[in-house]
Amino acid sequence: MKAAVLHGPRAVRVESTATPEPSVGEVVVRVTVAGLCGTDYSIFAGERPVRYPRVMGHEFVGRVEAVGAGVTTPGIGDRVAIEPNYSCGVCPLCREGNRNLCLARTAIGIDVDGCFAELVRVPARCCWGVPEAVADDDVMVTEPLAVVVRAVARGAVRAGETAAVVGAGTLGLLAVQVLRARGARVLLVSRTARRLTLGRDLGAENVHAVPDGPLEAVARAVSGREGVDCVIETAGTAEAVSHALALVRPGGRVVLTGLPHDATSVRFFSVVRREITIVGSMIYQDEFAEAMRLVAAGHVRTRPLITHRFALGDIERAFAAHREPASIKVALIP
Ligand SMILES: [Zn+2]
Ligand SMILES: [Zn+2]
Repeated sequence: MKAAVLHGPRAVRVESTATPEPSVGEVVVRVTVAGLCGTDYSIFAGERPVRYPRVMGHEFVGRVEAVGAGVTTPGIGDRVAIEPNYSCGVCPLCREGNRNLCLARTAIGIDVDGCFAELVRVPARCCWGVPEAVADDDVMVTEPLAVVVRAVARGAVRAGETAAVVGAGTLGLLAVQVLRARGARVLLVSRTARRLTLGRDLGAENVHAVPDGPLEAVARAVSGREGVDCVIETAGTAEAVSHALALVRPGGRVVLTGLPHDATSVRFFSVVRREITIVGSMIYQDEFAEAMRLVAAGHVRTRPLITHRFALGDIERAFAAHREPASIKVALIP
C-alpha cells in the first residue's frame, strides 16, 4: 500500500509499504478522506518529536477492509470515523472514566502509524459507524468536533447564556456552532478579520477582530452586563488566555483547549478578585457519539471549513497549504 512516511523533520516520502494485518481486536481501515491539522504540521516540522519512520495523521474516515480475531463490530465494508486516541483501560485514571488523561494513552498518527496512507490498523473500539445519510466530508472533522463538544461541556454552557470563542480556526468555528446548538449567544474573537464573515455564517451573532478596541468593552456591549458568561479559548497562544480573561464576566468560566505550550503570564489577581473559574479541557472522553449526532442533525456544518484538498502524493503541498492564511482545514485523499 501507499503511505506518506516521515523519516525526519520535513523529510516525508510517499512509499510502498507492507499491507497492515489486523491483530486480535483490531481492524484495518481503507482511508477515504483525512484531515490535516496543526499537530500534524508540528510533527512534520520536527517541533513535536516522534519515533521515525512514522506515518502521521489522526483525523479520518474510511471503510473497514479487514477485521482481526474477536472483532464483532465494525464489520467488513462498514463506513467508520476514527477516535484516534486510546487509553490503557486499567490504570486508576482509566477506571474512573478519565481515559483522556491516561498516562499510557496511545495517539494514532503520533505514537503509532496514522492515516496519511491508504490503509491503517486501529483497535476496533476506536471505530464509530457513520450514518448512511452523512457524507465522508461531513464527518472528516469529527475528531476536532469532539474536542469542542467536550470544551463546551466543561464550560457548562446553558441556553440563554452569552459565550465568546477566542480563535477562528477549525476548533473556533466548530465551537461557535456547538455553542449555538446549546442555545448560547456567541461572540467570535479573532486576531484577524479574515474568518469573521464565515464565523457569522456559521452562527456567531457578534464578531470582533482583536486590534479593534478593548475586549472588555466589546464583551459588555454584547452581553448587556459585565462580560460574557463563558469563554472557550481555541487559539493556543499565551495572548489568547489574556483575551479570554478580558472577555469573561466576574463569576464566569474560561475553558482552555488550545494547548499553549509556552509559559503564559496571567494576572491571577483578576482571577481571584473576580472569582473566575478556569478549566482545562483535554481532547475527549465520550464525546464522539455526540459529535456525530450534531453533524447528522445538521447543527454543525463542517464543509465550509474544508478549504483545500490534495492527493496523498501531494502531501508536501498539503502542508504548505496548511500554513496559508486562507486555509482552514486541508483534506488529503489517499
Ligand atoms: Zn488534529
Ligand atoms: Zn490508563
